[in-house]
Amino acid sequence: MKSHYRAVVIGGGVVGTSVLYHLAKFGWKDVLLIERSVLTAGSSWHAAGGIHALNADPNIAALQAYTIDLLPEIEKESGQSIGLHMTGGMTLAGTPDRWEWLQSAYRTFQSIGIDDCRLITPEEAGELCPIMSTDGILGGMWADREGYVDTTGTVHAYAGAAKKHGAEIVENNRVLALNQTANGWEVVTEKGTIQTEHVINAAGLWAKQVGRMAGVELPVSPLNHHYLISDTIPELEALDFEVPMTVDLEGFTYMRQDQKGILLGIYEVDHEHWMVDGAPWEYGFELQQEDTDRIEKELILGFERYPALQHVGVKTWVNGAFTFSPDGNPLVGPVQGKPGYWCACAVMAGFLQGGGVGKSLAEWMIHGEPEADVFGMDVSRYGDFAQNKRFIKETTGQFYSRRFIMTYPNEQLPAGRPLKMAPAYSDMTAAGCRWGASYGLEVPLYFAPESFVEKPSLKRSNAFDIVAEECRAVREDVGVLDISGFSRFEVTGEGAEAWLDHVMASKLPAAGRARLAPMLSDEGKMKGDLTVFNWGDGTWWIMGSYYLRDWHKRWFADHMLDNVAVRDLSDGTVGFSLSGPKSTMVLERVTDGPVNLPFMGCGTMDVGLIRAKVGRLSVTGELGYEIHCSAVEHIGLRKQLLKAGADLGIKEVGFNALLSLRLEKSFGIWNAEFTQGYTAAETGMDRWIDWSKAAFVGRDAAMTERDGNGPARRLVTLEVAADGADASGYEPVWTGGKMVGFVTSGGFGHTMGKSYAMALVDADLAAEGTDLSVHIVGVERAAKIIAPSPYDPAGKAMRS
Ligand SMILES: Cc1cc2nc3c(=O)[nH]c(=O)nc-3n(C[C@H](O)[C@H](O)[C@H](O)COP(=O)(O)OP(=O)(O)OC[C@H]3O[C@@H](n4cnc5c(N)ncnc54)[C@H](O)[C@@H]3O)c2cc1C
Repeated sequence: MKSHYRAVVIGGGVVGTSVLYHLAKFGWKDVLLIERSVLTAGSSWHAAGGIHALNADPNIAALQAYTIDLLPEIEKESGQSIGLHMTGGMTLAGTPDRWEWLQSAYRTFQSIGIDDCRLITPEEAGELCPIMSTDGILGGMWADREGYVDTTGTVHAYAGAAKKHGAEIVENNRVLALNQTANGWEVVTEKGTIQTEHVINAAGLWAKQVGRMAGVELPVSPLNHHYLISDTIPELEALDFEVPMTVDLEGFTYMRQDQKGILLGIYEVDHEHWMVDGAPWEYGFELQQEDTDRIEKELILGFERYPALQHVGVKTWVNGAFTFSPDGNPLVGPVQGKPGYWCACAVMAGFLQGGGVGKSLAEWMIHGEPEADVFGMDVSRYGDFAQNKRFIKETTGQFYSRRFIMTYPNEQLPAGRPLKMAPAYSDMTAAGCRWGASYGLEVPLYFAPESFVEKPSLKRSNAFDIVAEECRAVREDVGVLDISGFSRFEVTGEGAEAWLDHVMASKLPAAGRARLAPMLSDEGKMKGDLTVFNWGDGTWWIMGSYYLRDWHKRWFADHMLDNVAVRDLSDGTVGFSLSGPKSTMVLERVTDGPVNLPFMGCGTMDVGLIRAKVGRLSVTGELGYEIHCSAVEHIGLRKQLLKAGADLGIKEVGFNALLSLRLEKSFGIWNAEFTQGYTAAETGMDRWIDWSKAAFVGRDAAMTERDGNGPARRLVTLEVAADGADASGYEPVWTGGKMVGFVTSGGFGHTMGKSYAMALVDADLAAEGTDLSVHIVGVERAAKIIAPSPYDPAGKAMRS
């Protein structure tokens, strides 16, 4: 062990060794992994080693696919057997809704290029796994690249391959403390102190403590998990093939062959946390006592699914812990305010996801950005609010218990809620507001009568008519929307304008104006679809998506210039928007005289008793205003607006209406049309780029794309011949049996009475009038590319 390394990985489980391997493989040879005990001594040694394709987040499913392809490679590179059994695998559906969902998931897989899957009948499932009862099975999805690995062998293979690339590993050496230095970190270990530029927390069950060593409180907790290994099953012994890895979603179990018996893993609905503050340091190759009473219900289902278990004994019980984040996805990436401190934690399926995590993190550290869109596992998707222990317990517990329970797109889950509420929350609830949650904040979805109950559905919700009425109010009269769920950053200082000019690709707005501002990465990929306000007094605002707050703050900090102060106002400044042809009438009734703001103008004015900041813009495509006030004025602002518009048909609306209205205008939104995986030219955001600027972040890459052959795919608007269900995202788009793109988002346009989708399709097929088709909830529907903005294409309403 030397006294200095470029990077030090803490933790020798499957994740730490994968990070080490990727760093060394991609060119950083001066890297060290430190392991407290011996390699695998956390969760990794007792994992079931299952690898399978399904993940609700398509980007994470793609990284899982990368891991699966990598496994044979590391075996070859290291010469260490990983005991790979690529048996193929099945995911089974036991209810009509689940079967529909699986058919739609199969199409999503096609969209992201996972093409070794097919749907199977219950009879085929029975033939593929003859020891399984097919009672209650309605269908399944088969994937070729599923199976299992020897977990210890796999960790040693990553480690061996890393060493071949020049990395070092030191075992039996606990990291005791981390101290931030001018150039990185001082790593205090049992065997001495090391200086390094980068430190990676891959401490698995101990991630919490290794976070705290750097003053970082990670939203992560271990939970216990059971599997059993049966004695030899005679029916299996008689087979001349291995049965596939099988996930029985309605049975809460996964199964794989283990020698001539089976391993049956259980996702317990009645979950149990373990050592919420991190495992004890002395914990190692130990397990918890099995608790068969707690898992009785799932065990009965498992023994019914695999009846042979009723006749053979249990050879081994495993009840071990592994870690979860609130949404079950890993926590990866740099921690804002801690330069050189990186996370690779909360990886709940390390053998399946470890490769993708290692690859993305190594790319991030070496090149500044990962190749894939990894927002779904970016540590910055959680803010300080997620450090609360009760929040962590409720959300991780909910995720665990629901691991195999279907969550419908319109379903709202209760854990960790309500956490943050804008001041008018109670008044709005009394008015019928139904809420969703974004980054811990309650955001309005729609307003319904008390007796209304929304039914979870894969298709159009029974709130359809309610949302239609809110859309009508906005198009014909005026709608009021609580816009507390936007992020607001105040930018001040002598260098404010120069910094904004540097970090945004667009022209900056003149004094008293707002402007749409794409923000790009060095590679020309999207980093934000923001709105910049110039209040004219040296103060600027950046407005964006509330849930991207920490992600954007980290980006701002990484690209900071001198003499600029960026302040996050998001929780102290809230507001309401007015949208619709009667918005000006309402506003003028509460302001002192006529409202003379031009389209995209902004200024400070009296709104009732409130001194508010007002911008004239609306994502609905109507005449509209966004009115910002301090949190203590929120209740009053709402009351004044509703009173002023009472005889003008004013109606409170929610974000479900906004999503429908913006789709009719072909206005893209983040995490759908815009992600860090897409470029400005692909998404049409390049029309906001100011090419005359000499420099801004991402300029070279954007120029190269502009001056080359242009983007290979383009964002289009589709009119879909839908029936009872609309596109939602990631559905494949076809022509003549060939996949030519995928949906970014979709929904019903209530004003136009049509189903729409936005999609990224091959550039040479992006012409208006092109006939295509789209799979919606598993059914192929005709679709046609139409001109953008089916509602009011000339944009007269918003400029009126
Ligand atoms: C019963 C069970 C079944 C599972 N089945 C599967 C499955 O089928 N498929 C799958 O993909 N996943 C499965 N998992 C999950 C899998 O085990 C984990 O996702 C994976 O092991 C996490 O790896 P890790 O490297 O993040 O953490 P760990 O394996 O916990 O490794 C962390 C390492 O860091 C070391 N460390 C911690 N603190 C320090 C310090 N201060 N200094 C030095 N070293 C330190 C520890 O000693 C440990 O070796 C299962 C888990 C359980 C419990």
